[in-house]
Amino acid sequence: MEKINFKFFDQNSEDPLGKIKDFESIEDMNRYELNELSKAFLKKYFPDVSLNQWNDWKWQLKNSITSYSELSNFLDLEDEELSNNLNIPLRITPYYLSLIIGKNKGHLRKTAIPSIFETLESFGEEEDPLAEDNSSPVPGIVHRYPDRVLFLVTTFCSTYCRYCTRSRLLSEEKTIDSDKNKWDAALEYIRNNSNIRDVLISGGDPLTLSNQNLEYLLSKIRHIEHVEIIRIGTKVPAVLPQRVDAELANMLSKYHPLFMSLHFSHPDELTPESARACETLANAGIPLGSQTVLLKGVNDEIDTMKKLMHKLLMARVKPYYLYQCDPIPGSSHFRTLVEKGLEIMSGLRGHTSGYAIPSFVIDAPGGGGKIPLLPKYLQDKDENYIYLKNYRGKIYRYPNKEEK
Ligand code: SF4
Repeated sequence: MEKINFKFFDQNSEDPLGKIKDFESIEDMNRYELNELSKAFLKKYFPDVSLNQWNDWKWQLKNSITSYSELSNFLDLEDEELSNNLNIPLRITPYYLSLIIGKNKGHLRKTAIPSIFETLESFGEEEDPLAEDNSSPVPGIVHRYPDRVLFLVTTFCSTYCRYCTRSRLLSEEKTIDSDKNKWDAALEYIRNNSNIRDVLISGGDPLTLSNQNLEYLLSKIRHIEHVEIIRIGTKVPAVLPQRVDAELANMLSKYHPLFMSLHFSHPDELTPESARACETLANAGIPLGSQTVLLKGVNDEIDTMKKLMHKLLMARVKPYYLYQCDPIPGSSHFRTLVEKGLEIMSGLRGHTSGYAIPSFVIDAPGGGGKIPLLPKYLQDKDENYIYLKNYRGKIYRYPNKEEK
């Protein structure tokens, strides 16, 4: 197996020519300086914990915050953040908490700390808004499109997002990580359906599985002849970047063509550690795309979204989807109007490189699939021309007539 070179973009560097750092080994990488917020957090709350422990993803999981009483050791909870009725379990890695409490504006706080608004049911909300359960022929498989399946391999995440589309499935206990029988039944389904050419492994977060379990799944899927590509959906690089190391990257690189969709919500998530995790995956030859949910009070401003997309590109992640927030129960405090997403798309197209522009989509309630939405660029047409509005609002015409 080819040795992976660790070359990482140093976002803290002030010297534009000195921004790429080289590392010889994972140990070397672990000595790499933490982002300033994590450094201050570690010093204050875990003074006896070594850098090696902090950089160990299992330590991060073991010391994750899973209750209000633990959370209150780190921050003063607002009245609205105290709720007895949690639809979604509470879990935050110490690393992610260090980003949450280190920022005054608190954009990330809303994404991970529960609030009483989660108990309010609003217009149009449903437990399973994408009707995935209706398209599930065997546990763990969602088969909606003929040529591809979603394979939900775990119900566990290292940090639970308060707006999660699959909130109905998330659970600390219900993980099927160790239930190989369920995996095997799902694998058998994929094996028996020769029209499936694309398998998206998701959950929960698949990168919370051990390398051994993840490899079990990947190798079984890769051995199915009609499966052409494998995709993994994960938020780990944003909330638990310590998980992404050379061992994981080397293992994943055996199962190409393998693609990854990385869930990022805000530019504050792009720390040197998360950028390094992305680059480790990119160096393993894995094409990376991002998925971002449009969230009120978190990323619903053009400048914030542009900054996020730029930082993703710098970490070698191509912005892929911007999702309108799915109407799960208790999510109205996260949902913007669709017009807000269109305004953001207008603020990106023409104002930054095309590579920085994701597709804005609504995953249609009831299982209609992803439907792209665009600002109204096509303004009018007559028998000779179509009339188009450019990013500055100026109208241009294009000849649109077939010669006989
Ligand atoms: S990481 Fe993904 S699956 Fe897990 S809570 Fe967040 S959105 Fe849901």
